[in-house]
Amino acid sequence: MIRSFFITGLIVCGTLGAWAQTASDYNNLGIKAYDTGQYDFALQHFMKAYELTPENKTIRRNMCNAHQAKANLLAKTADFASAAEHLRTAITVDPENASPLIQLGSYYLRLDMVTDAVFRLEEAIELVPGNLNAHELLGRAYYDDNDHEHAMEQLGYVLKIDPNRDGLQELFEKAQREAVVEKDFKSRNGRNFKMTFPKDIPYSMQNSVERILNKAYYSIGQKFGGVFPPEPVQVIFYGANEFQQATQLGNHVGAVFDGKIRCPLTDVQGNWLSEKELSERLTHEYVHVVVRNMAGEHAPWWLNEGLAEVLSGNLDADMSEMLQRMYSEALDFDLKALEGEQLTKLKPESLKLAYLQSHATVSFLQKKWGNQRMKQMMDFLATGIPAEDALSRVYKKDYATLARDVAMTYN
Ligand SMILES: [Zn+2]
Repeated sequence: MIRSFFITGLIVCGTLGAWAQTASDYNNLGIKAYDTGQYDFALQHFMKAYELTPENKTIRRNMCNAHQAKANLLAKTADFASAAEHLRTAITVDPENASPLIQLGSYYLRLDMVTDAVFRLEEAIELVPGNLNAHELLGRAYYDDNDHEHAMEQLGYVLKIDPNRDGLQELFEKAQREAVVEKDFKSRNGRNFKMTFPKDIPYSMQNSVERILNKAYYSIGQKFGGVFPPEPVQVIFYGANEFQQATQLGNHVGAVFDGKIRCPLTDVQGNWLSEKELSERLTHEYVHVVVRNMAGEHAPWWLNEGLAEVLSGNLDADMSEMLQRMYSEALDFDLKALEGEQLTKLKPESLKLAYLQSHATVSFLQKKWGNQRMKQMMDFLATGIPAEDALSRVYKKDYATLARDVAMTYN
């Protein structure tokens, strides 16, 4: 909402810019620009008005609104970093206003900057106690920080007043379930990872998985020109049964990334997993962290899983044989059908084929065009354009052509 302040006798016309002299002139020009969606111009005018009368609350609020509108526009193209910059300015201009604090908190969450998100959202709640959006975001931030107790406190408060918030009850129950399983777990903070272990996990084991994670951190990050998460990544380790209790996933699932990497350290019989097995699983999940960092939530399933498979292990002879059979019997999926998350509900056998096909497809792209091209693909995806469009722009192929090219390599 933009407000004008009334000055007697002010004439507003198209040529005003040439002779605008008072704060009011500039404010009115700012409003005109704002109303037509020209937020950069609006900001220039409000800035001049602000310089002339820095104490004027209306001008401050107008300037804040224009920064928020600009931030909103940038967020739509996934440029959350620049959006956040506008909001930080908005907050200094209009410090009594909770709205930019809440908006900034949500973008920090999107950027995985959890500590900053918590800080800003707590500030917002001081200004507007009881604001449900702020409390919900704060609950989500605590959850991301693996602080179940504070997360449930915030989420529970919101759910009591508004039980139908999208996905919130689900998140509350997830936090509750994990809080029970992880009650006696111990955390260990490394520079790149915040790890949580069941108690009594030997130090040698803890050191070993931290080494694996750090290796993945540097090697995968560097492949894409230096992609590193802004804050340490949460990694929760479990025994096999605890893993199933916490995640509710079947025992064909080796590990998962749902915003946090979750990985069992043992098999269902309680035997330690080998270093090789742990390395494959953790590296696979860490690729998902990097993909999210590059493309947000926009990477299609086949690309996300395919890349994770390619960068965590090689296609062995058995896998190649299965692929040959799959393509010769035309059992492969339409890539369009391999875009969504619902795939995890496939039967284990079909899911295995879906992974294999994704592996083969990304392996084909990687071998032919390498990591930089893949980074371009991720950059396009980050802006929210459909996956097949991004593919055509970067690799000059649609799904059908890509599928045919990959199938040909298994003839
Ligand atoms: Zn995966």
